[in-house]
Amino acid sequence: MADAMIPCPACAQQVRLPESLLGQSVQCPRCFAMFRSPIREDDGSLGPAELLTDVPEVNGISNAHSRAKVPAIILLIVGMIGIGFDGLWILAYDKEPDLIRAKLLEMMDDAKAFPPDATPAEINQIIDVFVAIPKFCIVAAVLSVIGAICTLSRKFFPLAVIGALAGMVHIWAYTCLLGLPIGVWMLIVLFQPDVRRSFT
Ligand SMILES: [Zn+2]
Repeated sequence: MADAMIPCPACAQQVRLPESLLGQSVQCPRCFAMFRSPIREDDGSLGPAELLTDVPEVNGISNAHSRAKVPAIILLIVGMIGIGFDGLWILAYDKEPDLIRAKLLEMMDDAKAFPPDATPAEINQIIDVFVAIPKFCIVAAVLSVIGAICTLSRKFFPLAVIGALAGMVHIWAYTCLLGLPIGVWMLIVLFQPDVRRSFT
């Protein structure tokens, strides 16, 4: 018979078990919690596994921590690059707004970004929105850096979640197409029960 897949009751990792280990005490290879695997019911279904020990603190936390570390570090780097680029853009626009608007107009016009019947006022509004994006993005970038630091220090779980979400919306052109997958990755890791528990 094929192996059974049992979700670890501590960290939800799917653990592959041969039929001979059903009903036995087993250890999760990821969080190292001991649990009793369910026995197979007459109808072939499997009940929930029963947690026998709590996640061993040291192993559990270092394991959870190492899983959260990689996305947090990437998010930190992406966030800092974002702060740099958005900051430069905002400073440049502050200095030479007319020049930058003219350049944008030219680029967007070349790219046929405006509807053919757009009035100059409408075109101006579109450019207004465009130049406001970096101001919004720099806030998202700062939040994602704070969230990454919280994740690395395992403090302030809600800020870590906000940071991951901010990373996802921070997909402003040059930096951050990376932001979306990294934010999603970090969010998935953060909500793994043992990772969440490792926060103080
Ligand atoms: Zn586990």
